[in-house]
Amino acid sequence: MAEYRHPSAELRARVALEKHGFRNAHSLGQNFILDEGLLEHLLDAAEVWGEDNVLEIGPGPGLMTALLAARAKRVTAVEIDRGLEPVLREVLNGADNVRLVFQDILKADLPALVREAFGDEPYRVVANLPYYITADIVLRLVTSAKQPGSIAIMVQREAADRVMSHPGEKQWCALAATVQSYGQPRVLMDVGPDVFDPPPHVQSQFIMIARHGQPLVEPKDEKTYLKLISAAFAMRRKTLANNLKASFGLDNDGARAVLRAADVDERVRGEALTLQELCRVADAIMERM
Ligand code: SAM
Repeated sequence: MAEYRHPSAELRARVALEKHGFRNAHSLGQNFILDEGLLEHLLDAAEVWGEDNVLEIGPGPGLMTALLAARAKRVTAVEIDRGLEPVLREVLNGADNVRLVFQDILKADLPALVREAFGDEPYRVVANLPYYITADIVLRLVTSAKQPGSIAIMVQREAADRVMSHPGEKQWCALAATVQSYGQPRVLMDVGPDVFDPPPHVQSQFIMIARHGQPLVEPKDEKTYLKLISAAFAMRRKTLANNLKASFGLDNDGARAVLRAADVDERVRGEALTLQELCRVADAIMERM
């Protein structure tokens, strides 16, 4: 006689979506991954194991959430679409280490959410989110008062190229500088459109940004440093001195003095500076304030 086997999480998710007549909302970027083998692979690559607390953003039907629940200590999953609640409840039935929060992550008070979920314990982020909010959410996470130990996230390949770029390269941008001040990004896996349901029109990469063990830069004032990064890339054709005048209300002499104090060329463009140089400029601005 054939042995009864508990239905796989993948089957549960597919059946629950069907049963509740769920229709994917294009406007919420609902391209789901319903392949359990691939998701296990992604979570192996993201190194999520036993003692990890995980904040999952955009759980969709909850297949990845169910796999996370089986391998991590605690999972909090934040989903904007209440229409997915019956599906999620069914797929996650019995997973008592999962907490569901129905909220727009962009409107959430991240440190409060994380504190409520995990107290003072460290946590990691795992997310397969709509690509139009990935940059925004990554920036919020890496500049948060309660930063995660790592962020494993599915992104459009072009976004991965930008995050991975270096000073002086065409793609080097405020996002890359801010992300790399926090941690080291690397590609874990190339992911083609076919694994998503429905398939998007772009190629994707699953990347991980692991927070630096030792900070690369330690600005005197974090806010000034982040404001300087925005200023450095604000008008790419202008020199950094000009961008400093516009963003920090400095006059010509003041902007030049800041650059001299930071030991960088007065005619330099913002996008040519390394993170350490950006940090020195931010500190020099602080000295003048
Ligand atoms: N993680 C699931 C998967 O891999 O199958 C779903 C991925 S789907 C690309 C993105 C999910 O993020 C959807 O469930 C969508 O409703 C949710 N979402 C979109 N915008 C969101 C937001 N601002 N806050 C929280 N969740 C959001």
